[in-house]
Amino acid sequence: MSQTAVYPGSFDPLTKGHLDIIQRACRLFDHVIVAVSNNPIKKATFSVAERIAMVEGAVRDLPNADVDTFAGLLVDYLKTKRSRLLIRGLRAVSDMEYEFQLADMNRRLYREVETVFLMPDEQYTYLSSSIVKEVCARGASVDAFVPPGVARRLRRRFAVPG
Ligand code: ADP
Repeated sequence: MSQTAVYPGSFDPLTKGHLDIIQRACRLFDHVIVAVSNNPIKKATFSVAERIAMVEGAVRDLPNADVDTFAGLLVDYLKTKRSRLLIRGLRAVSDMEYEFQLADMNRRLYREVETVFLMPDEQYTYLSSSIVKEVCARGASVDAFVPPGVARRLRRRFAVPG
């Protein structure tokens, strides 16, 4: 049976840390869906369409990765995709509290779900979408932290030359 894993997140925007997790997941599972969350409560910098386009641009060379969006309960989305595998990234201990809370709740809502935590390369341990946006907004280069297509959109969004 082919295994589909879902990697959900805001991806606002995608960073090289997210991409590292996607690449690891693609080596472990037959099919990986990067699921961009459409959550009206969480105010995002980029629209869902923009976030999807940025992920699409970055995973073009990964044949078993797909990009999608979901709204509402993640476990309902998993069921529609006939998947029981949830991928999340764990950077430092600081992620654990929130990630364990989320994994526990998802398991309560859907008994069969398994959350698989993947650790990125250590260079991405302290990388987050929010810190990348702050750095870009203050005029520094973000080329080291995000794929080229994301860097271009960030510069445009924050009106940074280059
Ligand atoms: P969410 O709002 O769902 O937390 P994010 O886009 O911030 O969405 O993160 C999605 C997932 O990717 C989370 O599991 C998060 O811990 C993980 N993640 C974020 N940044 C990194 C990174 N630099 N390295 C590895 N995992 C990361």
